[in-house]
Amino acid sequence: MTSGHVQTLRGDIPADALGRTLPHEHLFVDLRGPFVPGYAQADPERVVERMLPYLDELAAHGVTALVDCAPPGVGRNVAVLQRIAAATPLHLIAPTGVYKEGFIPADLLDLSAEALAERWVRELTEGMDDTDVRAGFIKVALNDYGPTPIEVRNLQAAALASQQTGAVVASHTIGATAIRREVDVLTSAGLDLRRFIWVHANTVHDPAVHVDMAQRGVWVEFDAIGADAWMDQTLMLDLVVKLIAAGYAEQMLLSHDAGWYDPAQLDGRPQPDGIRGYTALFDRFIPALRARGVTDAVIDQIMISNPARAFALS
Ligand SMILES: [Zn+2]
Repeated sequence: MTSGHVQTLRGDIPADALGRTLPHEHLFVDLRGPFVPGYAQADPERVVERMLPYLDELAAHGVTALVDCAPPGVGRNVAVLQRIAAATPLHLIAPTGVYKEGFIPADLLDLSAEALAERWVRELTEGMDDTDVRAGFIKVALNDYGPTPIEVRNLQAAALASQQTGAVVASHTIGATAIRREVDVLTSAGLDLRRFIWVHANTVHDPAVHVDMAQRGVWVEFDAIGADAWMDQTLMLDLVVKLIAAGYAEQMLLSHDAGWYDPAQLDGRPQPDGIRGYTALFDRFIPALRARGVTDAVIDQIMISNPARAFALS
């Protein structure tokens, strides 16, 4: 039993009702950033038409929930997400928060950590933008060598908003230096690291760093499954098996970081490779874990129990 509720785009559900969940994917992303004309704009019907087949494929694998991880600054469009949520049986979760420096919308640049946290709390408790659709978690991002001053402010705001709402903080964090500096900032800001997801933990190839972070309570997320172009899949399998063997299956999350509809393209397909689907975990990675001796009980722990605990607000 997981206590608490999860805030989906169709409303609150008990955390236990979330089911098999992909904790880090993308439905709609605009990597041009918030300063270009036409940023994050698209006809919701075209997005639904393009993305629904990929969600239908997931339902066939018993997946019941998907977390969209694009915060404001890289294309979060609540109307588009709401339209997708109305068309799929999957539970969808969307974040408040902000992406890394260079992608921070103008109206968030000059706020104090406290004022920024207040905005994010409002998105978590009342609704995102001008809707009554509530965000389900807080997503932030760092530059590759650790937080810049404005990203430190974002982390402090995330810690405050998490403390006030119970929402988990998920942060795009590349490499060992960045994660170490980040947990220091979050700890100083008073965040319980059990409410923190290390997004892109697979960018560190030293298993001792994963164990160290898990010992401190962090959720360790391997989210490049099926991303053959940027992550050696055998290496990632080894890292996952090692963290399970070290006793930390209960703090692990697995996902693809795949998708998505790109409004910068006429046909919505990101260049150069098009839309990446969300099934490599089921077609390849989980079978490979089983072949390495990981049991179905552990796989269910990672795919069902862990996301419910991570995304539950209490
Ligand atoms: Zn992502």
